Amino acid sequence: MIIVMKAGATREEVDAILSRIQEMSYRPHVIEGVERTVIGAVGDERGKDRLQALDVMAGVESVMPILKPYKLASSQGRPERSAFTVNGTAVGGGKLSVIAGPCSVEGRDQILEIARLIKDAGANMLRGGAFKPRTSPYSFQGMGEEGLKHLVEAREATGLPIVTEVMNPEEVELVARYADVLQIGARNVQNFSLLKRVGQASKPIFLKRGMMTTLEEFLMSAEYVLSEGNAHVILCERGIRTFETATRNTLDISAVPVLQSETHLPVFVDPSHASGNWRLVNVLCRAAVAAGADGLMVEVHANPAEAMSDGAQSLKPPKFAQLMKDLIPFAAAAGRSF
Ligand code: PEP
Ligand code: MN
Repeated sequence: MIIVMKAGATREEVDAILSRIQEMSYRPHVIEGVERTVIGAVGDERGKDRLQALDVMAGVESVMPILKPYKLASSQGRPERSAFTVNGTAVGGGKLSVIAGPCSVEGRDQILEIARLIKDAGANMLRGGAFKPRTSPYSFQGMGEEGLKHLVEAREATGLPIVTEVMNPEEVELVARYADVLQIGARNVQNFSLLKRVGQASKPIFLKRGMMTTLEEFLMSAEYVLSEGNAHVILCERGIRTFETATRNTLDISAVPVLQSETHLPVFVDPSHASGNWRLVNVLCRAAVAAGADGLMVEVHANPAEAMSDGAQSLKPPKFAQLMKDLIPFAAAAGRSF
């Protein structure tokens, strides 16, 4: 159920509702908007008639059932889209955020160099995998904690928040000690114990759609994180598996408007993994921004031919700088600022 408070409802009125929800053995989730507070009450669906009775309490404007299975991720009853900051960098709220960097952290000098280059080009956050989900056990698996330390040095040098993947629940604490944003990769989108664990972390989550997940399943994965109390989830469309073989995956551009009508969460697009081909990255980035994306994730490598992973889809730094310029009119047309 969603309990919409009147504009100007007092703190005491909100607290009274929260206590009542807890007495009924539901979990309250408070969503503070600019104008009004909305409270989500989640728990056993069968008792929802009892929650309806909150309608008569002071400060309540309306009580309505959330019809979607993703109760907290749903846009229903949420007048505003989610916006938050990552170490001072805004996500959502009309801002277009660009996360850039190599697929993998390969060494200290590599990540420091690329961090400076993408920062100069206007990127907002630095990405780089230290724990890599590789299809083959014989491929480079990432530098682990040493890679995280290099990322922290790159953050100190540039001020860019760092986004990096965590692959299993036991490593969440370790990765969260270094990272500003925890990435959940496409292959782990339905790893429910991992989702629950990152739902308890105090860092925002960058959740990638699986190559075989429907948008409803994707939102249910976000719901796992939200239901554990972590309200800061960024969704990322990164291509799905179709019969088409010309590209690594198929970028589902319609995911952007569909997700934005279904959920209040920020929606990003990763054309690098979607296409698997650096030549397609620029145009797909522009398409994503035109479709209304809140941000992009782009792989950039100083020497793609020598990259330890995903070289074929990585832009060289000058091409990334050009992309940032090419995005300007598209961002303006979509009502986004950098
Ligand atoms: C990545 O971001 O490098 C990655 C492995 O992405 P995905 O999980 O989308 O394949
Ligand atoms: Mn990659």
